[in-house]
Amino acid sequence: MVAVATDDREGICMPDIAAYGATAADSGVGPMVITRRELRANDVDIEIRYCGVCHSDLHTARNDWGRTNYPVVPGHEIVGIVRAVGADVTDFRVGDRVAVGCLVDSCLECDQCHDHQEQYCRAGTTGTYSGYDRIDGSPTHGGYAQRIVVRAEFVLRVPEALDLAQVAPLLCAGITTYSPLKFWNVGPGTKVGVVGLGGLGHMGVKLAAGLGAEVTMITTSPGKAADAQALGAQHVLISTDKQAMRAATGSFDFILDTVPVKHDLHPYLRLLRPGGTHVLVGVIEPIELHSGMLLGGRKQLAGSAIGGIRETQEMLDFCAERNILPDCEIIAMADINQAYERMEKSDVKYRFVIDMATL
Ligand code: NAP
Ligand code: ZN
Repeated sequence: MVAVATDDREGICMPDIAAYGATAADSGVGPMVITRRELRANDVDIEIRYCGVCHSDLHTARNDWGRTNYPVVPGHEIVGIVRAVGADVTDFRVGDRVAVGCLVDSCLECDQCHDHQEQYCRAGTTGTYSGYDRIDGSPTHGGYAQRIVVRAEFVLRVPEALDLAQVAPLLCAGITTYSPLKFWNVGPGTKVGVVGLGGLGHMGVKLAAGLGAEVTMITTSPGKAADAQALGAQHVLISTDKQAMRAATGSFDFILDTVPVKHDLHPYLRLLRPGGTHVLVGVIEPIELHSGMLLGGRKQLAGSAIGGIRETQEMLDFCAERNILPDCEIIAMADINQAYERMEKSDVKYRFVIDMATL
């Protein structure tokens, strides 16, 4: 164990660090200085090497959900190297390759936490950004920054087989798609439709294919068909092609819907076979739904949020074993606003990842 006590860390600990964040819904994302807390006994201090860019970052920076705490430093697909650990930390050492996803704390006492479903903690989770630390109430700031300090229980291990520059999107896009695929027992013999070929969708295709399912990419962008097949989809269904949609009626066991904006669910529910399940992972406004769409065929409409820490580690190990890695466009920190604009136009192949050396 390498423990660096807070008192011994003069010269190592720099509470004020460089970051990129938003100060208001219309400010865009720009340089700022933030403070990271001093190491607590069970904390890990991580030098961030790469951070993925999730559509949730954009939603939060622009206050799309009306609950952003400004200033906000987005970024919850974080990978880096341990630079120090608190006195009680035994699972990590200085120099380890580690990662942090969307959660940095939960109560760890309720039934959900005991069941390794920290994302559904009864007391509420502490988000990696735009949240408040459970102990001192300070704002949490995400991965568009030089360093992050995180409670050890919420730090993941990056297997040696995974390239550090590509692994970041697994921490949100990866686990958010892996968790529902596992929960609904997707595997050989399952016919899966993945709606929306963006950051989450491209991981949904890769992971569902990796689990042995027959995968169809359901997209609004005919130009993405060849890519979808290269990612592992056997079939491509263009959702704006009414004839093709009609022909696919009743053919899917499971649909994973990653669309980030309000959309009509009826055409997708028609694609389910009796007993099939449509899972929403996109965070969207209230939806209108005729119950007949569910009654006829005993269909289920469900949602799913990220995944627990144990399952996130399982997903990282699964990806290492199967050599499943996101397709990343590496960008400089200063290009983040442009990246958001491209993401809004569904123009990303298929996840932006910020090289933190450019901060
Ligand atoms: P993204 O990279 O922007 O991809 C979204 C894709 O959805 C687009 O590439 C596009 O694919 C499709 N799309 C966009 N507008 C559409 C429309 N009007 N109708 C139909 N399809 C449309 O976004 P992301 O990072 O994957 O995130 C997706 C959503 O998941 C966001 O709302 C994000 O906040 C949410 N999220 C949820 C969780 C969770 O825990 N549940 C975790 C992370 C993110 P095509 O061009 O192929 O149609
Ligand atoms: Zn995310």
